[in-house]
Amino acid sequence: MLQSLMMQMPLLISSLIEHADRHHGDSEIVSRRVEGDIHRTTYHELHRRSRRLANALAELGIDQGDRVATVAWNGYRHMELYYAVSGAGSVLHTINPRLLAEQIAWIVNHAEDRAVFFDLTFLPVIQSIAPLCKTVRHWVALADRDRMPVATMEGANGVLCYEDLISAQTDQFTWPEFDENAASSLCYTSGTTGHPKGVLYGHRSTILHTLASALPDALNLSARDVILPVVPMFHVNAWGLPYIAAMVGAKLVFPGPFLDGKSLHELLESEKVTFSAGVPTVWQSLLTYTEANNLKFSTMNRTVIGGSACPPAMIQLFQQKYGVQVLHAWGMTEMSPLGTACTFKHKHAAWSPAERAPVQSKQGRALYGVDMKIVDDDGVDLPWDGIAFGNLLVRGPWVVRDYYKSGEGSPLVDDKQNKQWFPTGDVSNIDADGYMQITDRSKDVIKSGGEWISSIEIENIAVSHPAVAMAACIAAAHPKWDERPLLVVVKKPGASVTRDDVLAHYAGKVARWQVPDDVVFVEALPLGATGKILKTKLREQFRVHRLPGA
Ligand code: AMP
Repeated sequence: MLQSLMMQMPLLISSLIEHADRHHGDSEIVSRRVEGDIHRTTYHELHRRSRRLANALAELGIDQGDRVATVAWNGYRHMELYYAVSGAGSVLHTINPRLLAEQIAWIVNHAEDRAVFFDLTFLPVIQSIAPLCKTVRHWVALADRDRMPVATMEGANGVLCYEDLISAQTDQFTWPEFDENAASSLCYTSGTTGHPKGVLYGHRSTILHTLASALPDALNLSARDVILPVVPMFHVNAWGLPYIAAMVGAKLVFPGPFLDGKSLHELLESEKVTFSAGVPTVWQSLLTYTEANNLKFSTMNRTVIGGSACPPAMIQLFQQKYGVQVLHAWGMTEMSPLGTACTFKHKHAAWSPAERAPVQSKQGRALYGVDMKIVDDDGVDLPWDGIAFGNLLVRGPWVVRDYYKSGEGSPLVDDKQNKQWFPTGDVSNIDADGYMQITDRSKDVIKSGGEWISSIEIENIAVSHPAVAMAACIAAAHPKWDERPLLVVVKKPGASVTRDDVLAHYAGKVARWQVPDDVVFVEALPLGATGKILKTKLREQFRVHRLPGA
């Protein structure tokens, strides 16, 4: 084969921050810190501190390939770690602090982390796990000297101060060049059964994901944007936004731990944010706040919503009342995460808003780089007609090939053309235009008398009722039909609504046999570590729920 004569330059994460410094050096990175104040820096300064941090890591004995963990909120120090750790050739292991202490300890030991950098908020959990974490040589508090805790830690040589580490170093550091397939970061999936599984991203996979995600038909980001990632940096690299922002030179705004509706709204307004990203439960609390206080968004014009299905009622409210365009997107930890984004095609321009609405509630079209298909339980391909639904499979250069040290063998499945696919565990249909729509997680599907009921469809209808804030539909055991849908509802503050009101809302929207058999009202739904509704918990809670007539 004739070899190309183009330059060979490895795709490395350090190139992102070098680019941002050189071309967008004065673009701002604004953080609301754990301490409560607002901190301002620029790409130029963040790059300088990242180089100092890289020197500090070397002095701490962190080698290439070593895992360095973070237990931290979204903020500039966390972003410095993103660039310093990966840029130097070590592996940034972001840990979800909402996991139980023993799960965190398990993950640290499994990853064999050498150092753990943490926000002061998490000192209690760090103190409780320190004696259990045998591979960790350094615990570093993301704080300056004045705020350093006096606490000692059993089994550790004390806590190091992040700002002391940085100020003791020079910014003379040249990012090393190495194989673009080297590992760059590690994130464990918050599995609901068994131990969490580690997804080990690489430099090449991250850069390709970043390029594809910034495109107009994906997140459509540019140097004219001000991005506020609500999605945490400990969950799939905040959907890649710290990398995308640097690639395009956008201003970044980090909310730290302040994720309530009031704090978010204030920051969106004061920093003139144009684009934000988060799961539906976060937006629900923001919208509850703006509705109650009659507020508007004066600069935010787009928001990407994913992680769970975005109810059409939320899309309509954002777009029609607030003028914020909703971009519904789908992905997974195993996919870096972006797989599909729901943007229109040329032909949709002629469609009325009512015709477009059902398109927007779908999870969207595959990004270039992600190949997808749906198959039945025997692995046979299903048609793209928007009706047939089955197991969703994906492949691509930013999709997981194997879990880190899982010992269970590759999760991939072969098809008849000897192509390997990752089974997502999602059930979906795909229409003739290539728009994919998730109907369920395979384990959340409700099977009533052999017929499948989409829990997402039932939930979307429930939250379109004006008195319903949140809803989850689960399968309840039934002597005749095996399973029947049970709807668990959280009312909007001050709203009054009965079981019969909610059920009447289904008339004409779904077939009668798909209407839930019962509605129970609760104060709150159990949320998992990434803000998703924990259906496993709900199923446990309502295992013995007696359905009317059963
Ligand atoms: P995680 O790896 O924790 O981010 O979870 C990935 C899973 O979240 C996917 O496999 C889906 O089940 C679900 N998910 C993500 N985005 C969406 C979406 N837009 N609509 C429905 N489910 C979603």
